[in-house]
This record gives sequence, structure tokens and C-alpha cells, in this order.
Amino acid sequence: MSGSLSTGSIPSGARTAATAHRPARSPAAIAALAAEIQSLEFRFGIDGAHVLTRSAELAAEARTHGEHALYLWARLLEANMRRRSGELATAAAICSEVNAWAQQHRHRPLLARSHQQLSTVQDNLGDIAAGLEHAVRAVEALDDDTSPRARGVILLRLADVLAQGGSIEAARTRYGHAEQVAVAAEDVDLHLVVLNNLAYAEHLSGDHERAWTAVQRLRTVTETAGGELSADALDTMAMIQVGRGRYPEAAEIARGNVEAYEVAGPDDADGLAEYLLTLAIAQRHLGDTGAAQAGLDRCAALCDERELAGVGVRVLQEQAELHAACGDTGRAFSVYKRFHEAERELHSQQRDAQARARHAVFETAEARREAERFREQARRDPLTGLPNRRYVDETLPGLLAGEPVVVALVDLDHFKRVNDICSHEIGDRVLVALADLLIEASRSPGAFAARLGGEEFLLVLPGCGVAEALPVLERFRLSVQDHPWRPLTGNLPVTVSVGATESGPGDTQRRVLGAADKLLYEAKHAGRNRCVIDVFEPGAS
Ligand code: GH3
Ligand code: MG
Ligand code: MG
Repeated sequence: MSGSLSTGSIPSGARTAATAHRPARSPAAIAALAAEIQSLEFRFGIDGAHVLTRSAELAAEARTHGEHALYLWARLLEANMRRRSGELATAAAICSEVNAWAQQHRHRPLLARSHQQLSTVQDNLGDIAAGLEHAVRAVEALDDDTSPRARGVILLRLADVLAQGGSIEAARTRYGHAEQVAVAAEDVDLHLVVLNNLAYAEHLSGDHERAWTAVQRLRTVTETAGGELSADALDTMAMIQVGRGRYPEAAEIARGNVEAYEVAGPDDADGLAEYLLTLAIAQRHLGDTGAAQAGLDRCAALCDERELAGVGVRVLQEQAELHAACGDTGRAFSVYKRFHEAERELHSQQRDAQARARHAVFETAEARREAERFREQARRDPLTGLPNRRYVDETLPGLLAGEPVVVALVDLDHFKRVNDICSHEIGDRVLVALADLLIEASRSPGAFAARLGGEEFLLVLPGCGVAEALPVLERFRLSVQDHPWRPLTGNLPVTVSVGATESGPGDTQRRVLGAADKLLYEAKHAGRNRCVIDVFEPGAS
């Protein structure tokens, strides 16, 4: 379990500015933070308001410690709570942001969790294909360090979304995997959730007998653990009994749920509306239409009062059935029409929510691309479009650590004259044309050209020695000399001098560039428009 909460730091560049007044990192405090975040995730039947408040505090704390991965982890807790309370767009935005970071930093635990949550969000929005895609990615991101609870929940997500999409066979296999994880880890709560969801999935697929078997197992596991079935589980059970044609049993369970609600009065209006509806359905089948109508009226009032659009639509459907059962086909027909309108309205609301959440996902992706563009721009010379000095500083040391590289400094000859005799603008155009010739010369794999500054350029050719590179450099030098410059500079020739060296084992950028600079100076001194090369000599400086 320990490994799954490995922490990650914010990138060093971002840290310097923020660390000035930060207390020294305390490993114990960070471990406690990680432990609390882990204890709050994947908990079933939790107090949402508490987690929401606490997740904001934990995120702030993670931030003070400079623990960016933990910060994002806490944000995912928040996203989950927001999704549960219907704020899908907010949840989607947070999850996408975490997901992008996790992908960029190859942070598997956050990758798995963000995909898992994005799967639920998409599922809630009715986009089963996207939900499935995220669930599959979440499973792919699992590794040996994943806690059994996290593994089980993620496998369960895949099972649920497969069932939603109508692939009940594939879903059964995944429910089986999730159950194995729960059993092996002796995680009873997880086991109960898996069986509950399996029963519901079987019920949705119309296989009432399999659903009933799952419910029986759910009951056994609950009783073995010394607990009682949750009201939601009992409601599923009642609906399954309706499906099996066991109306008295269904009514009895549903009535128990309604009564329990009235005694204990939990603050779950959705729950009560569902139980009333289930009871009314069972009563209609039993021919007790009076009681069914009374229950349905109460349920409809509750839906209006609490704006429970989803249950409200199903109430209309049931009302139409009830009128029909009473032989009032005229009213049945008119309510049925209202049911269809309400269903359309609900779907269009869902589509709006879907559009908003898509937009939120798009915006984070857009912000990411923007940041990437900015990063990219900061590493390019605006005049020629070539990589700049910054790019070289970031790239060359890594290249030098590998195979030998040829590093050539290229400097325009008497460039000052071009500026003085023609114009600075013509000078700029010469630089741009030279950049094109440099790009031509750096076509081999891994090679690149850069503008170090002014009229000084760098050509890097990996995977060869300087003797092999000489023909390439000579060809380049001649391509500059022979380029049709006349339209730009008139009679003024444009040529370059080149100083090139090759790297040796354990070489440094400083040494290589210093050596190339000396050779360039030799080339200038010997009359310009030439290449001067040197091989690596161990110990030379
Ligand atoms: P050498 O052959 O010894 O290299 O002579 P040089 O004239 O090329 O060298 P010097 O270092 O004396 O002059 C370089 C000139 O390059 C001076 C500077 O104005 C010009 N230069 C540097 N950056 C730019 C630029 O972005 N655009 C233009 N047009 N000129 C630039
Ligand atoms: Mg020059
Ligand atoms: Mg120069």
C-alpha cells in the first residue's frame, strides 16, 4: 500500500520563487498528509461535506510543502465530491488537469485515479464510449504498488461502464476480478459494493435470476460481516423481485425502506423518492391501485420539492402505467405524452451538462497546449525560427553524455559590412537565408542547427567523428559561398567560417564549445571562408 502514495515535487523552476518563506520540509508531516489523503479516497458511504472541506485544507497543506502530486491527489478528492453533488463540469476540469500532469510526469497512481474519475464523469454524462476509454486506461495504469482498494475500485469502474454499455458478459468477468481483489484483501466494504453493482447490472440487463443470485450473495456477505443491507441495496433487491414477478416480496422490502426512512430520517431525498416509486410499482402489480396512487402522489410532490428530475420522469412513466392498469386509457395516453416530453427535456439538460463538461475538458487541454507553445517559443530564435541558446543549454549536455557528437561553430565573415553597406534589414534577411542552409546541412538523424546569438550559429551532428563530418561541413560552407546572394547584397560576398570539434567520453559543453571557438578563431585568422577541425584529445582543455 505504501508505494502507491509516492510523492512528486513541483518542477524546480517553479519552486525557486515559491520556497523563499516556506518552512523546511518535514518528512513526517508529508507522510501524515499522504496517509490522510489516502484514507479519504475510495471510501464508501462517506460524508461528502466533510471530505470536500478537508480536501481543500489538505490541498493547501500539500502546496505549502511543495508536494505537487499530493496537492493534485487532494484535488481529485474534491473533484469526486463535486461530481457526486452534480457539478460535473468542475469535476471534469479538475480531473483533466490532474490527468494531463500525470501523463506528463508518468505518475501512475494519479494517472489511474484521474482516468477512473473521468470515466465516472463521462458515464454520468451519458458518454459511455468515453467512459469506457478512461476506465481501460485506468486499469492499464495499475501496478504492483496499487492498493487493493484502489485496484478493486478501478476494476469495478471498468465492470460498471461495460455493463452500462450493454456488454454484460465482459462486465461479469470484471466484476469477478474486482471481487477476487476484495476477497483476497478481506475488504468487506469493497466486496459489498462489487456485489451490489453486479446485482444492479444483472437487473439492468434483464437477467433477473442472475441478479437475484448476486443479491443473495450480497446478503450472505453482509450478514457474515455482522451488518445490515443498505437501503439502496434493499431497493435494488425490491426491483429485482418486481422483475422476477415476486410482487408481495418486492412490496414488503420497499415498504420496509420507506418506514426505515421515516424512523431514522436520513437526509437523502433521492433515496426516499426511489423507495416510494419502487413500492408503488409493486403495489400496482399487486392490484392495490389506491395505495399505489397515494404513494406515487407523495413521490411526485417530493420530486417537485427537491427538483429530482431523473426520478420525476420515471414517476410519470409509472403514472401512465397506473392509469392504464385502472382502465383509464385516455389519461394513460396523455400522461404518457408528458412522460416523453419530460424525458426529452431531461436528455437535453444532460446534453447541456455534457457540452459544459466537454468545454471544461477542452479548456484545460487548450491551456496545456498554450503552455506548451509558450515553452516552445522560449526555446526558439524569433528571427530565424532556429532553436536558441537556451535550447542548446538544455539539450547539448544530454547529447554529450551519450555517443560522440560533432559540434561546429559557424560565424558569418565580415557580417558587419553587410549591415553597414547594405542595411540592417538586409543583414536580417541574410541571417534568415543562412538559417535555411543550416537546416539543409542538419538533415541527418538527431542533427540540429541553432542560433547562439548575433551572427554565430551552431551545428550539432551526432553519431559521427569530426573526420566523417568534414565533407558535410564543407558542403555547407560551399552552399553558403555559392548561394545566389546578389539580389540581397549585390557585389558583397557572403561566406562563413567554421570551427568544429568532436566530443569525447565525459565531455562537457563548456569544453566542446571552447574548443570549437578556438578553431573558429583559427579559421578566421587563416583568411575566413573555411572549416578548421580538430579531433578530441583526452586531457586537452
Ligand atoms: P568576422 O568575420 O570577424 O566575424 O567579422 P564580423 O563583422 O562578422 O564580426 P563582428 O563581430 O565584428 O560583427 C558582427 C555583426 O553582426 C555586428 C552586429 O551588428 C551584427 N549583428 C548581430 N546580430 C544581428 C542581427 O540580428 N541582425 C543584423 N542585421 N545584424 C546583427
Ligand atoms: Mg562574424
Ligand atoms: Mg561573431
